[in-house]
Amino acid sequence: MWMDLVMHCPFCGTQDTRVTDSRLVADGDQVRRRRQCSACGERFTTYETAELVMPRVVKADGSRESFDERKLRAGMLRALEKRPVSAEAIEAAIERIRQQLRARGEREIEARDIGEAVMRSLEQLDQVAYIRFASVYRRFQDIDEFRAEIDRLAEEPHADTTDGEPRR
Ligand SMILES: [Zn+2]
Repeated sequence: MWMDLVMHCPFCGTQDTRVTDSRLVADGDQVRRRRQCSACGERFTTYETAELVMPRVVKADGSRESFDERKLRAGMLRALEKRPVSAEAIEAAIERIRQQLRARGEREIEARDIGEAVMRSLEQLDQVAYIRFASVYRRFQDIDEFRAEIDRLAEEPHADTTDGEPRR
């Protein structure tokens, strides 16, 4: 059974909590998360050992490495630079990506699956960030393909990018 952390609020027991801040502690071996309960509003802190919680990453060349949340966050922040998206919305998106990856129940996960998860997440957060990330990540084959993707996005109404809150 692969470990999955469902965070129950210690005050009221609900599972609906959100992450307001994450940082690495203990030389990067642990992630300290500040959470707030969506039901009762209480705040609490959890410590998670990244190694135990996340699947290992299989890179394109077949080598393995530990899941590195710093890399994930850095890639997203680069794409979101100067975009009107709140730090809280970014943290929530990172938490959802982590949950998606864990929910697969696999011990290992392909690096490109993480990239795809980031792209889907950015597409909902901010379309400019999505294009930035996708253009680097997918290395669009040619300019026509890139243009087609931009056209596709332009046709999709996204009301969710105005307030920085991701679509549910
Ligand atoms: Zn609560």
